[in-house]
Amino acid sequence: MANDMLTNAQMRDIEALLHPYTNAATHRQVGAHLIERGHGCHVWDDSGKRYIEGMAGLWCASLGFGDEELIEAAREQLGKLPYYHLFGGRTHEPAIELAEKIKELYPQPMARVFYCSSGSEANDTQVKLIWYMMNALGKPQKKKIISRRKAYHGVTLVAASMTGLPLNHGSFDLPFDFVKHTTTPHYWREARDGETEEQFSARLAADLDTLIEAEGPDTVAAFISEPVMGAGGVIVPPKGYFEAIAPVLRKHDVLWIDDEVICGFGRTGNWFGAETLNMQPTSASMAKQLTGSYVPLSAVAINQQMADVIEAESARHPALGHGFTYGGHPLGCAVGVKAIEIYQKRDILRHVRQIAPVFQARLRQYADHPLVGEARGVGLMGALELSPDRKSAATFKAPGKVGARLMSELLKHGVILRAIGDSLAFCPPMIITEDGVEEIFAPMEAALDATYSWAK
Ligand code: PLP
Repeated sequence: MANDMLTNAQMRDIEALLHPYTNAATHRQVGAHLIERGHGCHVWDDSGKRYIEGMAGLWCASLGFGDEELIEAAREQLGKLPYYHLFGGRTHEPAIELAEKIKELYPQPMARVFYCSSGSEANDTQVKLIWYMMNALGKPQKKKIISRRKAYHGVTLVAASMTGLPLNHGSFDLPFDFVKHTTTPHYWREARDGETEEQFSARLAADLDTLIEAEGPDTVAAFISEPVMGAGGVIVPPKGYFEAIAPVLRKHDVLWIDDEVICGFGRTGNWFGAETLNMQPTSASMAKQLTGSYVPLSAVAINQQMADVIEAESARHPALGHGFTYGGHPLGCAVGVKAIEIYQKRDILRHVRQIAPVFQARLRQYADHPLVGEARGVGLMGALELSPDRKSAATFKAPGKVGARLMSELLKHGVILRAIGDSLAFCPPMIITEDGVEEIFAPMEAALDATYSWAK
């Protein structure tokens, strides 16, 4: 039975929608939160209440809400060519220009860009292109993909398999068998007593090596990693992690997919997280900040070796049998070109580098609160992981409840953040100012205290 305190819109929502990442029974009781409009780093709900968006939506609105230049770029493109596709050799200028920019900005040489609409589609595409490539190379058995526990790569069947979170597997008959998961690079939670960050990294690289050896190196095609795990709880890898992983992948001739869906386009203070975290990928997925999320668009960038093999293989068939109706949508590409132009001309990366230390210092002020296990982050992303005992990195008896409570305390104070289990995630628009950072953190002490008393 629905709650009779709900508004008409909430009732209609309950009857009309199946909500992603929402508990349907709870939703029926509490109703939806209706967001009506946004401007800068703020959104307003249907009661007129204003919120600071400390998560940029879903790690998305890098340039905030209502950026006139992005809106104008969309309007102009809609007037000129509102839809077209890239099938059968057709093209359009925004698709070419955006691909050129991606190639120019990515830290490793990339040869070709393939467009999709979402991060999940991009990651599924990665696997399909790699399988296509392995078949072309006469290595049909080299198909397994290694991901990591707590990784997030999306929700389509293969992407969800690569995601390393039980929520995305349970009742969905996932993960697929060809996907294997290795250890999470979370030093605070996973390191052994007395182990340094470097020793921990070396141990995780050894875990990966052991897994590849056990599976058989000639059956393992690729390793996929986010530079910083986002939806797994903003887990920043320890010192030396990717430096230790790289030689293992090289030794076994395993490709490396870089999932930049959150980190790409400035979030960590460089254009791509691969630069900040020193990764050596062979291909990369990007979305979200690619267009500031005003229009759905994602992209897969592949290196020269992959491009050569895939192009040659496509010539053996009538065509490359893969592509999406909306992949490379001119609206998305035009807005993407404009978003990159804005990042460059407003020097958003410099702004991120200036504001990130303020944000990170503010976040770490709560590291000693009795409810906080760890305060962590890099650039303009971070998390406060709640724990009943910091020293042992203990988890709560009923996981997720305390995090959800803290999130709703902050909502009362006009701050939107996201609880990922018992980690409170932060990812504000990259245009946030010191005042905006202050607005996010101003109610934090009171909200933590109230949640702590409730949890006791
Ligand atoms: N990869 C990463 C790192 C993500 O954070 C996400 C979404 O949050 C995805 C992939 C999936 O993207 P989408 O939700 O657009 O399918």
